[in-house]
Amino acid sequence: MSPVKPTILVTGGAGYIGSHTVLALSRAGYHVVILDNLVYGHQDLVEKVLQVELIIGDTADRALLDHLFQTRDIAAVMHFSAYAYVGESVSDPAKYYRNNVMGTLTLLEAMVAASVKKFVFSSTCATYGVPEIIPIPENHPQNPINPYGATKLMVERILADFDVAYDFKSVRFRYFNAAGADPNGLLGEDHNPETHLIPLVLQTALGKRKSISIFGTDYPTPDGTCIRDYIHVSDLADAHILGLEYLLKGGDSEVFNLGNGQGFSVREVIAAAQHVTGIDIPVQECDRRPGDPPALIGSGEKARKILGWLPQYPDIKDIVVHAWQWHQQRHQ
Ligand code: UDP
Repeated sequence: MSPVKPTILVTGGAGYIGSHTVLALSRAGYHVVILDNLVYGHQDLVEKVLQVELIIGDTADRALLDHLFQTRDIAAVMHFSAYAYVGESVSDPAKYYRNNVMGTLTLLEAMVAASVKKFVFSSTCATYGVPEIIPIPENHPQNPINPYGATKLMVERILADFDVAYDFKSVRFRYFNAAGADPNGLLGEDHNPETHLIPLVLQTALGKRKSISIFGTDYPTPDGTCIRDYIHVSDLADAHILGLEYLLKGGDSEVFNLGNGQGFSVREVIAAAQHVTGIDIPVQECDRRPGDPPALIGSGEKARKILGWLPQYPDIKDIVVHAWQWHQQRHQ
């Protein structure tokens, strides 16, 4: 009989990247408890697909956290819950600092009090700001250009200080553009409101939107549109399992970019979606969206070397095929 694997607390496990990671954790034999306030998470997915314990609550609720750590034998925490709309973070920064920084600090303090000192954190390439070199390495300067990126950077700093003071070990993953869906069609991307390129393109293919807007056609890129490094959500989930196991084996605190090291322009993504769906997708060329750097590409070399992470779906077509499968069934 294989040994029983430990219990992992996953905050934000009812959300997009969190839910795919919970699925991967369950498949790998871990016992999972989700903490999610369901502001953006999907209870139905947890109940019907993930079928793990869901505690509805907030990371800012210290009493709830203390009770949770006292009543369960939690070995590590994976922290996905955060607000992540860049535009909203500019118009309502208080909401972002309160939830993403104060909520996380409350969680971290409760963990230290309970002597649970292993933490996998969802950070972001938005902590880099406008890159000086591409692909971006982990030691690139971090100068976020919006409050969302600033909140994630603050937590990264808190984690570094907690390590020194409390021997608190963390893996900080800086994601590039999470995209795609579970290859078996069990889970997918379902934001409300939706602002991300691939789901919006596919909603246009399904006739739910009249056209897809291209935000800016005058960037200093080969076709004038922004370039992003799209990383399959299941590859992100795999990286989280590797990061967790690295910590459980006694690994030191580390930071890793999670990107494919190759970028696709907005026009290339739309072309891939036309190819995959066989549908002519109407586009509308618009002004630039404020705060968008021209190109963001991340080197995943360090995660490959230290964690042995090897993305299975680096091809944009696979990412779009899986997303399309999900969107078609979602909108049936
Ligand atoms: N984008 C676009 N039209 C849309 C949504 C996004 O042209 O309706 C562009 C956006 O300007 C960026 C890229 O697509 O260059 C990816 O945007 P997304 O919001 O998916 O992710 P982000 O890079 O902001 O995290």
